[in-house]
Amino acid sequence: MTDTHDALWFDPSLCLIGGKWVAAKGGETLPLVNPSDGGALAVIARGQQPDIDAAVAAAHVARAGDWGRMTALERGRVLTRIGTAVLERIGQLATLEALDVGKPLSQARADVIALARYMEFYGGAADKLHGQTIPYLDGYTVYTLREPHGVTGHIVPWNYPMQIIGRSVGAALAMGNACVLKPAEEACLTALAFAHICTDAGLPPGALNVVPGLGAEAGAALSEHSGVHHISFTGSVRTGALIQQAAGRNVVPVTLELGGKSPQLVFEDADIDAALPYLVNAGIQNAGQTCSASSRILVQRPIYEKIRGRMAEAYSALTVGPALDDQQVGPLISQRQKDIVNGFIAKGQDLKLVAQGQFVGATDTGAYVLPTLFADVPPDHVLARDEIFGPVQVIIPFDTEEEAIRIANSTDYGLVASIWTQNGARQMRLAKALQAGQIFINNYGAGGGVELPFGGVGKSGHGREKGFEALYGFSQLKTVAAYHG
Ligand code: NAD
Repeated sequence: MTDTHDALWFDPSLCLIGGKWVAAKGGETLPLVNPSDGGALAVIARGQQPDIDAAVAAAHVARAGDWGRMTALERGRVLTRIGTAVLERIGQLATLEALDVGKPLSQARADVIALARYMEFYGGAADKLHGQTIPYLDGYTVYTLREPHGVTGHIVPWNYPMQIIGRSVGAALAMGNACVLKPAEEACLTALAFAHICTDAGLPPGALNVVPGLGAEAGAALSEHSGVHHISFTGSVRTGALIQQAAGRNVVPVTLELGGKSPQLVFEDADIDAALPYLVNAGIQNAGQTCSASSRILVQRPIYEKIRGRMAEAYSALTVGPALDDQQVGPLISQRQKDIVNGFIAKGQDLKLVAQGQFVGATDTGAYVLPTLFADVPPDHVLARDEIFGPVQVIIPFDTEEEAIRIANSTDYGLVASIWTQNGARQMRLAKALQAGQIFINNYGAGGGVELPFGGVGKSGHGREKGFEALYGFSQLKTVAAYHG
């Protein structure tokens, strides 16, 4: 079993239900694999329908009890304490995430900081979302109340467990919902660690319940549960569609964040030196397993050769190795994901493969794939249309602004887009014309800001998380009309 470097200070084989750490009722467990070397990492609970039933019931009890009675100010204080406690465990959390996800250690540390920041942000925001009074007919006083949905379900993927838990569970708790979290079966150590931190920081029993397990079992049971009032999901389009159908049967709202094929548009007047690190990093961060990865680089023809050459240079210098060695690129999450990504790379055999990175300390038993850059890629090629979810980028030439917009908007997705140009009017035109939930001008990702509302259009999903906007999604509005004559 992989040495977990004392990072695992708790028993990972249990579920958190109603404030108690318990084994799955079926008594079964699932293995976690270290993607850096293929070794066994830990065992987690294989939660199923009865465990989800118990977790949803515990969340209802919490809503009717201590948690439901807390004021917004008190909720905010608990969340802020959790944020502080997360930072106190930064070393352990980063190590767990690196071992579990295969994420280079410094990227895992950045995720811990983001998780803490979500708790601080939503802790501060908990008492800031107010209702309104509405001028109405003579003799009436009308006002609105912002209320929690009640019990919220959170189905989380393996690529950024801490960040995604922070943004969805953080906002849901701030509004007073009680949460049932189903982390991914491939990586869920930091979800469990976070739950320990929450209970230690004084989050009342049942406000957060965590049931690890398989998607088709625990995940499906949660999304189909009639006691759940809102579902937040991040993951694949296929699973997102299943979850929306299940939620539809119970007529409850869903927030879906389903990935993308996000472009960066580089015009001939761009500051190439400023753009270059973003062009490459946005594609290879977390080994490309990022919903907002930039997998398409659209370059105007007068600077095309130059960008292609500079990106090829950067790719050739990329190092790929074990997460704890903190190379630029770690392994993918699993052998399965490695096979999927290698399958895509094989589909590019008719394309110009311009550069790949190099392995440093990577072994055959790890799930490593070389970062791969293709150039001169036709916009309708499968590598330019499908989400690969690996460290693979395509460069596509264009001539005019209109052509760039057409290519950028030509996939089924619309999560993020960036525009590199010094021309202010063009920046404004493109910010409107590009179909995406977030637009970046002369940067990519803006440092990931927890303050910035995030979500997609088209098959990238719907609903917004992050920022203050998420608080609207995790609450519902009640209108009160009082007639007093
Ligand atoms: P997935 O969507 O199947 O899994 C994500 C989460 O959903 C996990 O917690 C999983 O247990 C759960 N789940 C799976 N089936 C479920 C069901 N029937 N009902 C309820 N929950 C269910 O994704 P995956 O299989 O881990 O990865 C496949 C592809 O999805 C990737 O190659 C990538 O393209 C995409 N993906 C996108 C994101 C993102 O951030 N948008 C994250 C992970 C994966």
